[in-house]
Amino acid sequence: MTTTPEQALEQAALAGIHRLAIPTPFAVGRVNCYLIEDEPLTLVDTGPNSGKALDELTARLGERGHELSDLELIVVTHQHIDHLGLVEILVEHSGAEVAALGAAAGRLAAFEEDAEEEDKFAVEVMLRNGIPEDVTVALRSVSRSFRGWGSHVTVTRPLDDGGTLALRDRKLEVLHRPGHSPSDTVFWDEERRILIAADHLLPRISSNPLITRPLDGSSQRTQALATYIESLRKTREMPAEIVLPGHGEPVTDHARLIDSRMAGYDRRKEKIYRLVAEKPRTGYELAQAIWGNVAVTQAFLTLSEVIGHADLLVNEGRVREVDEGAVIRYEAT
Ligand SMILES: [Zn+2]
Repeated sequence: MTTTPEQALEQAALAGIHRLAIPTPFAVGRVNCYLIEDEPLTLVDTGPNSGKALDELTARLGERGHELSDLELIVVTHQHIDHLGLVEILVEHSGAEVAALGAAAGRLAAFEEDAEEEDKFAVEVMLRNGIPEDVTVALRSVSRSFRGWGSHVTVTRPLDDGGTLALRDRKLEVLHRPGHSPSDTVFWDEERRILIAADHLLPRISSNPLITRPLDGSSQRTQALATYIESLRKTREMPAEIVLPGHGEPVTDHARLIDSRMAGYDRRKEKIYRLVAEKPRTGYELAQAIWGNVAVTQAFLTLSEVIGHADLLVNEGRVREVDEGAVIRYEAT
């Protein structure tokens, strides 16, 4: 018998986990925060740093008989601003502890400087992959304008990969599952077979493994898609009944969803191989060949897709990167 998303939400609610869908100004739409009615009273992710998000969060908590000041623990699933922008404001209201992957704590604390570093890094990657300079300038100002929805976060309870976050009525296994972002952390309730997955696995959209710096903040770029696929393989083997995502409805059939994502990556990888085998191309040329002239705001996203898949081909030894000085071109081996 298959469980519908509605039934999954009910089942989660019976386990004391309530979805609070909070508005964001981003294309992804609402972000799912999860209230865990346990001791301590716990909120997983907070929504972006905006008055609208704070109002809705306050209202949703109120419907369940809680005030902001009742929050005792805030859990941060990863470093993206739609998930953590309100953390510091909630801490001011409540004095709540903040739990997140310890390895990410330094970057979360230094949000503003880190965002600036990340933007610099993204511009370098774009230029090296053939994206015109005016596009990178435009994207950088878009990114700056988004920063206000984020915030620095002071982690008071650093978590370890493989460790346990224990509440009165449950134990959550803490698992680092990088790929969508370097800090993606999922929380596994083995007893109830519920996985709080945030953006590690989303029902309707593939989780955009964006090209980024590694968690330690060094400037060597990650192989985001290769890393993500490795993480997805681990999640696929988990006996989860319900996966609670960071956007959209619960997933009740994660193995099948992951299989279809993997098949999609394979198809796109072969498409990129054919384009590269035709003639050597830059990442930007590959993105244009696949998507045409997309909106400027999509340029980094599509480039990340291309580079991610090209990494897979490089790892397989079928494609190599040729450094032409100003740009890198991919060619078939
Ligand atoms: Zn995210």
